Amino acid sequence: MTISNDTAGPGCSPAPNPLPVDAARALIRRAIVPVATVERVALRAALERVLAEDIVSPIDVPAHDNAAMDGYAFDGTALSAAAATGTGTAQLTLAVAGEARAGHPFARACGAGECVRIMTGAPMPADCDTVVPQEFVVRSGSNVTFEPLRIERGANCRRAGEDLARGQAALVAGRILGPADLGLLASLGVAEVAVRRRVRVAFFSTGDELRSVGEPLAAGCVYDSNRYTLYAMLTRMNVEVLDLGVVRDEPDAIEAALRTAAASADVVLTSGGVSVGDADFTARMTATFGDVEFWQLAMRPGRPLAFGRLWPAGRGVGCESALFFGLPGNPVAVMVSFYQFVREALVAISGAIAPTPLQFAAASRVPIKKRPGRTEFLRAVAMRDTAGQWSVTPTRSQSSGVLSSMSEANCLIALAHDQGDVAAGALVDILPFEGLA
Ligand code: AMP
Ligand code: MG
Repeated sequence: MTISNDTAGPGCSPAPNPLPVDAARALIRRAIVPVATVERVALRAALERVLAEDIVSPIDVPAHDNAAMDGYAFDGTALSAAAATGTGTAQLTLAVAGEARAGHPFARACGAGECVRIMTGAPMPADCDTVVPQEFVVRSGSNVTFEPLRIERGANCRRAGEDLARGQAALVAGRILGPADLGLLASLGVAEVAVRRRVRVAFFSTGDELRSVGEPLAAGCVYDSNRYTLYAMLTRMNVEVLDLGVVRDEPDAIEAALRTAAASADVVLTSGGVSVGDADFTARMTATFGDVEFWQLAMRPGRPLAFGRLWPAGRGVGCESALFFGLPGNPVAVMVSFYQFVREALVAISGAIAPTPLQFAAASRVPIKKRPGRTEFLRAVAMRDTAGQWSVTPTRSQSSGVLSSMSEANCLIALAHDQGDVAAGALVDILPFEGLA
């Protein structure tokens, strides 16, 4: 099977100078203004939020030296003294002076020839730096005996501040807070953190043929699926979403929806109506209150894209405005354009330090036809064989209207702008869906 990603239909002839994907990304990056408002939230509400302050550890974590195992704590200098006596098989015997449990320290220092029965997490008694695990010792009465060569000085002792030292930077501003970060903040005793306010995104679909779920499907109509994929992708990014529904292909309705969206959100997303036949129509709507360009991208799927800024109440510094992405209408093109452009923009607007996108190489199981001069994304299924090698097969349909192929796929194959045909077995870059927020 040779997969061709060329699904151009009538009216889809390439524009004379389509914009390369990297150039579009650079133009989008230049237009980003991160949200500035900061709010304080309780720790649990901070999950997936963008940290707005550096967190410096106010304490040592752990706060005290403590045992990493159940056993007996003692002064490790006893080990070298025992080794100096010689044979290597000599036994070391210590008297058990008492007990330390987590939350219940041993009250006094531990003297020469003594040890303290200690449980994991218990503070190390003064003058002790080593824990011999209980499996290594023979206990008889109030003495323990073990081979000193089986243990090194300092073993099984977790040092105060070894996780985080007081005054050390624990987390930096811009971090998207994950489960480990919430735990880390709790370990510092931090109950509230400053985070950036969430990015607000308003979106709507355009098209006279669209019907919403729950409505009867009249002849020639299709259900609006883009609002659901957009809702889902946005919700996973933890942005605030405002769904403005379906807007008919009528200039006034589209203008009103765009103005409402721009006045209430940081980012406006639309789908449909930006292909060649409709572009002028949408352009007219944004011309009076937006700086919007209509791009033909050197990309498949997702060739048409409108991008710019909308000024619903007039242009100028201090005036409210919203970034605008006019996504294509085809359901797969919507998702691919979102993942390639909108996602990165939303991360940047949120004020986050962008996480490195997941990407790795896999061997294509089939030859792929690819014309240099545009970036192509193929829906594909990647799998790992029993030897641990990754290979990838494009889904049978690469039409940008076939959403089921997106459901079937678990990754996109990304074929770079200058790349040509791919031979079977050659390595290609894949962008896994798993792990993509
Ligand atoms: P357009 O870019 O408006 O010409 O739309 C391109 C194709 O995508 C057409 O077949 C539309 O019917 C389809 N389409 C547009 N918007 C949606 C939507 N929200 N849900 C499903 N299909 C859509
Ligand atoms: Mg349309």
